[in-house]
Parts: sequence; C-alpha cells; structure tokens
Amino acid sequence: MSAATEVRVPDIGDFTDVPVIEILVSPGDTVTVDDPLVTLESDKATMEIPAPTAGVITQLRVAIGDRVSEGSVLLLLEADANGAPAGTSSPAATSAPPATPSAAAGADHHADVVVLGAGPGGYTAAFRAADLGLKTMLVERYPRLGGVCLNVGCIPSKTLLHAARVISEAEEMGEHGISFAKPTVDLDALRAWKESVVAKLTGGLAGLAKRRSVEVLTGIGRFTGPNLLIVGEETVSFEHCIIAAGSQAATLPGLPDDPRIVDSSGALLLSEIPSRLLVIGCGIIGLEMATVYHALGSRITLVEVMDSLIPGCDPDLVKPLHKRVAARYEEIMLGTRVMGVTADDGGLSVEFDAGRSGVFDGILVAVGRRPNGGLIGADAAGVGVDERGFIPVDAQMRTNVPHIHAIGDIVGGPMLAHKASHEGKVAAEVIAGVPGAAFDPRAIPSVAYTDPEVAWMGLTETEAGVRGIDVEKAVFPWAASGRALSLGRDEGMTKLLFEPGTRRLLGAGMVGVNAGELIAETVGAIELGADAEDLALTIHPHPTLSETVGFAAELAEGTITDLMPPRRR
Ligand code: FAD
Repeated sequence: MSAATEVRVPDIGDFTDVPVIEILVSPGDTVTVDDPLVTLESDKATMEIPAPTAGVITQLRVAIGDRVSEGSVLLLLEADANGAPAGTSSPAATSAPPATPSAAAGADHHADVVVLGAGPGGYTAAFRAADLGLKTMLVERYPRLGGVCLNVGCIPSKTLLHAARVISEAEEMGEHGISFAKPTVDLDALRAWKESVVAKLTGGLAGLAKRRSVEVLTGIGRFTGPNLLIVGEETVSFEHCIIAAGSQAATLPGLPDDPRIVDSSGALLLSEIPSRLLVIGCGIIGLEMATVYHALGSRITLVEVMDSLIPGCDPDLVKPLHKRVAARYEEIMLGTRVMGVTADDGGLSVEFDAGRSGVFDGILVAVGRRPNGGLIGADAAGVGVDERGFIPVDAQMRTNVPHIHAIGDIVGGPMLAHKASHEGKVAAEVIAGVPGAAFDPRAIPSVAYTDPEVAWMGLTETEAGVRGIDVEKAVFPWAASGRALSLGRDEGMTKLLFEPGTRRLLGAGMVGVNAGELIAETVGAIELGADAEDLALTIHPHPTLSETVGFAAELAEGTITDLMPPRRR
C-alpha cells in the first residue's frame, strides 16, 4: 500500500452543489479501479463516482445529503501498490491537502468532531461519526478505551457474576442428587480472567478506532472556549463536539479513609473477600456486587434507606429476589440509614439510625452515580450544566450550544450503557446531517443481573399507578413453565402491561434466571407497536423461558391452554 490519496469529484459538467444521495463504500473496503464509490444526483442526472485506482478506503469525507462540486474531496483511498492510476479519467485523485477549516487557528489538532470521553457513548459516537465521513478525534483521560462500562462496570461485573452463578448452580444441584465439593477460589486466577475479558474488549476498541482513522488523544480534556479544548498540554479545535464524559460513583459524607471501604470499582478489584461485608445501597450495582461476594464466601448485610430492594422497581418483580437473598444473607435492613462508621483494627463499626449498630470487615458503598458535568470546564464553552452536574439536551442530543452535543450518563435518564451508545449514534448522525436522526425510543430496558435477574422496560405498574394510566395486566408464573422447572428455578414471573382497547404492549417486567435476555423480545415488540395478539401468535421455541412472554400474552388474550384461562368478566 502507498499513502492515502484524496478522491475528489471529477469534472461533472456544469453541475455544482450536487447532493450525495448514496455512499457505496465504507472505511476498510477494498475497491478495484472504476468500482462505484458514491452516487450524486442533480435535478437532471444521477452520477456514480468511480474509484480512480484500486486500493482500500481509509476514510469517508462526505455524508449523505452533503453537497459537492467538482474538486470536492469525497474520501481517502490507500492505493494498492499494483493498482493502476486512473490517469485519464478525471482529476478525481489528487494529493492536494484539504483546506480544513480551523475553528481556532493555531490549535495543535483540529477535527470535524471531537468526542470527549471514550465510554460506550463516546466510542460509539466517534465510530459512527467517522463512518459518516467526519474527521473525528476521541479524547480520553485513560489509556484504555471503553469507559466505566468496559473497565469498571458492565463487563467486569458480569464476568464475576458468571463465576458466582456457576458456584451457586453447582451448590443447588446438591438438592437434586449431584453434589460437588466446596469450590476452591483462586482469587488471582479469577481476577486475571476478568482482566483478560476487559483487555480483549478494550483492545478491540483501539483496533476499531485505528481502522476508522479515529485519532485517539489521551489526557484530561477541558473546554477553554466554544470551539476549543485543552487536553494535557495540547489544544484541540473542533467544528462539533460530543460530550460523553460519563459519571462517577457517589459517596457518603464522613466515611473514614480506609482501604476496607470501597466503591464498585474497588469491589471489582477483588483485593480480598471480607468475611462480613456491608453493602450500603440496594440498587442494581450494590445487589450485583453482593451476589458476587456472597458466592465467593462473604456474609452479606444489606442496608438501604428506601423501603425496598431496587427502589422504584415494581414490588412484585422484586419479591422473588428479596425472598431468595433473605434466605442467604445475614440481614436486609430496609428503611435504614447509615449514621456513621469508625474504623479500627477490630473492624468497621457502623451506626445505623434507630440505635442499631454492627461490625464488618468490609463495606461497599453503592449509593448511586454522579454525572461529571461540573468537571469539564463546560462554562468556558457556554454549555449549561444543572446543579447536579447533568447537561440538558434535546432529542438531537444538542446542548444549549448548537454545535456541542452531549450523551450518556452525563445527560441523565437511566444511567445505562445501551442508552449511552444509542444516544452516541444519534449525536453523530445529527452532526453528519442524517435526516430524521433523533433519540426517541419507546422503551429503554433495565436489567439487574442478580440471582434471580430482574428486568423491565416501558411502562411499569408503579409508574402507571402514579400517573393514573389504566392498564391491562397479564402475569404468567414460571411455576407453570416446563423450562423454569427443568432448571430448578420456578420462582420467576413474566408480566405484560397492555393498553386497554388497543391492547398494544405498554410495558413488561420479568424476574427469574435469564430475565435480562428475555426482556429484549418485549422491547422489540413495543418498538414495532405489537399488541397482545401479535405476541400470543408468535411461536416461541419449546421448552424455553421465552415461552413465558407468549404465555403471558395468551393469558391476556384468553387463549392459554397451559393454565386455566382467566374468567371473562
Ligand atoms: P462512561 O462509561 O462513564 O465513560 C466516560 C468516559 O469519559 C470515561 O472513560 C472517562 O475516563 C472519560 N472522561 C471523563 N471526563 C473526562 C475528561 N475531562 N477528559 C477525558 N476523558 C474524560 N450499564 C448497563 O447498561 N448494563 C450493566 O450491566 C451495567 N453494569 C454496571 C456495573 C457497574 C459496577 C457500574 C459502575 C456501572 C454499570 N453500568 C451498566 C452503567 C454503565 O457503565 C454506564 O451507564 C455507562 O458506562 C455510561 O457510559 P458513558 O459513555 O456515558 O460514560
């Protein structure tokens, strides 16, 4: 291969400002001479611009909808060493450097789009922007891409949760005639496995960034103006910016500085397994880490200031989880506040309200996450940040400054990786001018990967109650599911909520093993506007837990045969 050359619009007669209506190649594609690259459409003709030489596309410089004229750069192509130049065909392949507009002359770097933060929101936004032909730079303070999700969130926690599940499944088989010895846990090996999973994914991201020609700049970024960031010692100017700087673990005031008190990142390090672990905060993250540490041998006490596990989730979905952990953990203290902690050699003494106390060997603080909006110099760019650190955005993920977008945890809503990545795509597409790009989901699924898992999407029963929305509810108990019984885990349930009259699906909730996988079907259904009949007539494979969605819909339809149909009113 030789250096990349620019492929420009050749002589196209008298036409100027012609829109790009189709892009027929992507970065990484190999083309041979005369392969069509992009299609332009004037009011008189449609023209395909051919490859002037064989080679590999390295970067797109236009997006659908852009207007181009003779000489406009369409893309970069690394010519095959043996590729014959097109020669006569046109001035399409030239090596003249592009006249890149620089919003702040003299900056060390300039990009069409700078993405601040390389979590699931940021890297997705950067990759999509590059795929749409925009010169993109990704700024990340850590050398490893992937943000919280890949490094200290979703992926390491799920890796450890898998280990926890294997341990508890092996134990449960004791009741059914197969007993294993108590597992020996090699913490170093378990940690190394978790690290290897993370390294595979983060390394993969670095490779994907390179293949897309997304330039990665490592360092802490701060705005110094509406088109300028400073990253370490270097300045970066941009036409557009996408803020994807995420969130960090919230903490409780007044806790002693003691290595035995950790947040979720500290807990994922698996430095040691405390014999008595207090988990402060019973949201998803606290309960998932409790599941891991319990399987690895800790005696768990849960404390939560609200009056239920996973506050906000429908109580009927939480109930089977509560019952299972209550039988296994030392204590669940709901409606209870931690008043103070003192640390000494004998342990961590904790005072709760109502005069109670306890001594623990380790404490996990899992009391929520704080957005990083206040830490990036947003005011220098004129970007509004609310008092909690969130950056308000519109449906195009635009902040109050039109050329600066924000996505992911930092904009609020459910702090979930899949929300961040979808928002990232929207921001990139809006910047590239993709018509109709907007973040407008009908549902964002939430999953607690506890044992059993709890998952929900769309309207919840709790929310319907609060907002006075009338719903039709159908609940299929997993005690009637052959698959759940064959797994020895029949405590689950699948609940569907329908709109009375139209019978369209409004929401779904599940509790049981693998509920996190099962919820996806209902998200698809709600996006497609499915009703109870659609779901009931969908043939699910037997025997699977997925059947429980179909059975719940059959209950709503009154066509179920695996249970007695509900009495017609
Ligand atoms: P982040 O992932 O927070 O990434 C932001 C990035 O920006 C970071 O890499 C940070 O270093 C960088 N950054 C910040 N400021 C700067 C700066 N000034 N300069 C340069 N770089 C900067 N979500 C799920 O959907 N499913 C799960 O199973 C799940 N499990 C989780 C488990 C745990 C233990 C935790 C803590 C979170 C979990 N989450 C899960 C939440 C999920 O990780 C976040 O919602 C997601 O990572 C948010 O993505 P983001 O791109 O908005 O930000």
